[in-house]
Amino acid sequence: MSDPSRQGNTSRNGEAERAVQQAEALRRELWLDLEDTVITPVVNGWFNTELINTQKIKDVIASFQPHRINIFSFAIWDEAQRKGFTLGTREMIERHFGIQLNLVLTVDDDIIPICCRQMGIEPSTVDFNEMSNFWGKQGAFRLCMRHHATNHRRHHPNLPLHVLLLDDVVYNEVVRWPDLQTTVEQRNIDQL
Ligand SMILES: [Mg+2]
Repeated sequence: MSDPSRQGNTSRNGEAERAVQQAEALRRELWLDLEDTVITPVVNGWFNTELINTQKIKDVIASFQPHRINIFSFAIWDEAQRKGFTLGTREMIERHFGIQLNLVLTVDDDIIPICCRQMGIEPSTVDFNEMSNFWGKQGAFRLCMRHHATNHRRHHPNLPLHVLLLDDVVYNEVVRWPDLQTTVEQRNIDQL
């Protein structure tokens, strides 16, 4: 005759196993700032920047195991800067870390409109300085990820999302949004 308490354990173990499997079914996205995080400041153009923090970034990629790596940088404020980045810097980053970059947001076309839409503000009334003063990198990333996670959930309703920003000006934080099954983490690269 089987022992009922053992059955209970077996059933609990099954639940634990399912929980582990569910935890593994997770989309992980690494978002990278550029200046003073991955590269030196772009004072002499996108062709003349150098990689920095390379070991720290390799370590984060190895431990976080991202499915996608994206760029979230206030240095790419418009399409011209994005082109400069693509021509002068992108390949150096991809080759060095053996990665493919996915999304590269711009301030004017992506970050300001998304932040404003999230806050119910008309985007044309907010310029870069105001956006930066209102929300800083920390708040702007959170607002953009709220938008991003909402879209992600629409396309992948059963795939939880964990986004991690590496940046030199943010403070370390972890925010959870149960309604979107999303974790938003920000890490200061200088504190790694
Ligand atoms: Mg920076």
